[in-house]
Amino acid sequence: METYRMLIGGEFVDAASGRTFDVIDPCRVEPVARVPAAGREDVDRAVAAARKAFDEGPWPGMPQEERIRRLLDLADRLDAKQTMLMDLECRQAGIPIRKTTLMDIPVGLEMFRAMVKASAVPRYEPLPWIDFPAVSWNFVLREPIGVCAGICAWNFPWLFTMWKSAPALAMGNVVILKPASYSPLTCLEFAKTVTEAGFPPGVVNVVTGAGNPVGTALCEHPRVDKVSFTGSTEVGREVQQLAAGTIKRVTLELGGKSPNVVLADADLDMAVDGAIFAAFFNAGQACEAGTRLLLDASIHDEFLARLRERMKLVRVGDTQDFETTMGPVISEGQRTKVEGYIASARQEGARLLCGGGRPQGVPRGWFVEPTVFSDVGPATRIFREEIFGPVLAVTKFATVDEAVALANDTSYGLAAAVWSKSSIGAIDVARRIRAGTVWINDYHLINADAPFGGFKQSGRGRELSRYGLEEYTEIKHVHVDQIGPDRDRKFWFDYVMNRE
Ligand code: NAD
Repeated sequence: METYRMLIGGEFVDAASGRTFDVIDPCRVEPVARVPAAGREDVDRAVAAARKAFDEGPWPGMPQEERIRRLLDLADRLDAKQTMLMDLECRQAGIPIRKTTLMDIPVGLEMFRAMVKASAVPRYEPLPWIDFPAVSWNFVLREPIGVCAGICAWNFPWLFTMWKSAPALAMGNVVILKPASYSPLTCLEFAKTVTEAGFPPGVVNVVTGAGNPVGTALCEHPRVDKVSFTGSTEVGREVQQLAAGTIKRVTLELGGKSPNVVLADADLDMAVDGAIFAAFFNAGQACEAGTRLLLDASIHDEFLARLRERMKLVRVGDTQDFETTMGPVISEGQRTKVEGYIASARQEGARLLCGGGRPQGVPRGWFVEPTVFSDVGPATRIFREEIFGPVLAVTKFATVDEAVALANDTSYGLAAAVWSKSSIGAIDVARRIRAGTVWINDYHLINADAPFGGFKQSGRGRELSRYGLEEYTEIKHVHVDQIGPDRDRKFWFDYVMNRE
């Protein structure tokens, strides 16, 4: 079993305490690798290295074409390691090899490249001529923020490594990545490749360890300029509080309870498959998962009959088998939590359509059957709370207004979908739903050219696209006097000094 080290200031190091922890495959429940368990002194070391790289190193001042060239070279080097990354991502996070092969690793790399290329934008923006209160030439510069901490959730480890590094680095910042403890290994492989590509020391640092102390120390640290956090709303709230002490820039990508609305005129076969994809992709462990299925009453019964049939095609099993489409949840604790929600749904009067137990004939990991409840009332816990497991709640509506009200009856606002053959009708519903992304006749399709992020308690700020790049810059206004040495024409001259 491999023992990894962290990347700090261009060197691979153990935790100062020497402590380590094991990463466990949630499917087979066997150790995958050992990694350092960092403490506050390791965070201090990483921040000092990152600070030096930003304040004294070549990275922030490098011509943009050169930074882009180096980042694309890094992507090419990562390409050569795709097969190893697919296997590691599968084993550390319990994600089926089918998905890490067809989606996570190649798509993550394409997103990395797209974000890097999108950074080729002018950093200088002239403002219109200004003659009041004084004639002046004005322009705006976009400058890097500085040391950016990227704190990641465990559910899409490679994607988050790509999302937290590409835009920050491309805009001239330096990064300290803190992967989730369940799944830090592909981020550590990224670190190895960064050094192979000859990046200046301290531009990329990776620190592994628990949320407290590693994440908390990064959020509080006076020499960290920005935190980009992906994780639960509960921890996001704490991150914002910890960062408030130093007025850090904070981007929060948090939880969700996304509505998936099927209107009466939807293509039912497509919408049924879409509902399964929306809810059970990544065993339901996706922040944007369509976990509340809202069905028009006129199609409700027919929809559920077809859904029950199509659910048989979800193949739960060994994540290393290419035929498997759904793996386990991440940990024993997470399974206990999911099973608690299944029990609460039964108690609160929902009707079990399928699943509800543990699947047979699978490895000994943390599996839960894909589960669907219908007749779910809007006051129940499975309608309101993020479960982060393979549990779908179905609720019926009578009118489009009621569908919109149910869709918005949540403290979250990350994503939503609408299924309808009428583009006009679907767009009208999409406009009325309070969420950061709304798909029409589709689900989960996040791309690097469109912004991603939440309304309400699903977060603040955006990742991806030019909106995400902007989150990694400060805006500087430069005013250049055009009056020259004639003091009489300086409008402010009388304010503090008497003219003689
Ligand atoms: P989590 O909030 O428990 O942990 C996220 C990260 O924060 C981990 O690296 C963890 O070690 C760290 N952390 C924990 N406590 C911390 C603290 N006090 N201060 C700073 N950092 C701390 O989330 P998770 O269980 O890893 O992931 C699941 C959650 O993430 C779900 O709620 C899901 O919806 C959300 N998520 C959101 C998005 C999005 O883009 N909106 C994407 C994926 C996951």
